[in-house]
Amino acid sequence: MSAELFSLKGKVVVITGATRGIGEGMVTGLAEAGAEIILVHRGATDPSRVVDKLTKIGAKVHTIAAELENSDEVKRILPEALKKSSTGKVDVLVNNAGITHRDKVEDYPDEEWDRVINVNLTSLFKLARAFGKYWISNNLKGKIINTASLYSFFGGLNVAAYTASKGAVHSLTQALSNEWVGKGINVNSIVPGFIKTDMTDGLKNNPDRLNFVTSRIPVGEFGKPEDFKGPVVFLASAASDYISGSSTFVDGGYTA
Ligand code: NAD
Repeated sequence: MSAELFSLKGKVVVITGATRGIGEGMVTGLAEAGAEIILVHRGATDPSRVVDKLTKIGAKVHTIAAELENSDEVKRILPEALKKSSTGKVDVLVNNAGITHRDKVEDYPDEEWDRVINVNLTSLFKLARAFGKYWISNNLKGKIINTASLYSFFGGLNVAAYTASKGAVHSLTQALSNEWVGKGINVNSIVPGFIKTDMTDGLKNNPDRLNFVTSRIPVGEFGKPEDFKGPVVFLASAASDYISGSSTFVDGGYTA
């Protein structure tokens, strides 16, 4: 009974930013739970290592190359996904891709502000809008899972655009949920704490900051991409049907 509740057999999941890091952990869990996967990756990024890994698990996997900074490419994602899906439908959207740029506010370049807001927030909104419209107009149920951040809740240092974008991901998740949960679309976010990925790799050059951050994690160490398997499967599956507008913290109990 409970295994069935968490099963994603017959479900088609579209996920961005899953060629490495947290997204790779998520997509591995989704494939293990039986989902068919449509990986959205940057044209310049080769998805074959992850595709091979998921295929070995037994998943059906498709890829779509799209640059989330470019709104025309974002527009292509849903129609291409529907063409590739073996059921002709898509059931879950995971908006996980994200970038950051570090600079003091006084020196923050306009183009980096635009880039971070475009990838982390605007593309997420446009994808959610397209998928929501598709589910509503076809009388289908859907689930959206957005990757937020602890910086959705408190400001980071030297990452103004990232903090602004992730704060908005949190509030947008609630706004979408308010409009859509009554129409059968659950919208939730996953909130990573400090996770060992390329995004946090630079901290090794700043041992004081690394020690400070680690001292705030009661579990005693950074999280791993695999820590996201269970939470994403839960939020993608029928097990979470009565949950919407919520934030699932995956942060080792981080205390600010
Ligand atoms: P990562 O850099 O390893 O992965 C980011 C992914 O996004 C990659 O697959 C990359 O190719 C993709 N991506 C980036 N720009 C893109 C673009 N323009 N178009 C399409 N795809 C693009 O980082 P990660 O740590 O795995 O981050 C994943 C998510 O988790 C991000 O949204 C990030 O903000 C969030 N997050 C990470 C941490 C952490 O500690 N690592 C903490 C909080 C939130």
